[in-house]
Amino acid sequence: MKPPICCICDKRLADIDDGGLIYFKKRPSDLAWIKKMEEKGMVGHPPYAEWFCNEHHKKAVELKHLTIEEAMKILLETQ
Ligand SMILES: [Zn+2]
Repeated sequence: MKPPICCICDKRLADIDDGGLIYFKKRPSDLAWIKKMEEKGMVGHPPYAEWFCNEHHKKAVELKHLTIEEAMKILLETQ
């Protein structure tokens, strides 16, 4: 897992209540990543997940049905 730092504003989450990790819709490349990690028995930060601080978490949750690329584009344009 990546350290808990908001991917929008780079704020470090001091506490788990300061925000959260959001898993976005998986792309074909994400499914391939999961399969590869399972085959190799490895763990890592999922490429379709990002940390958000409280300020950005609510909006990001509303976009979690999108892929991470689509959601990040909207989040960065509208922040
Ligand atoms: Zn933030």
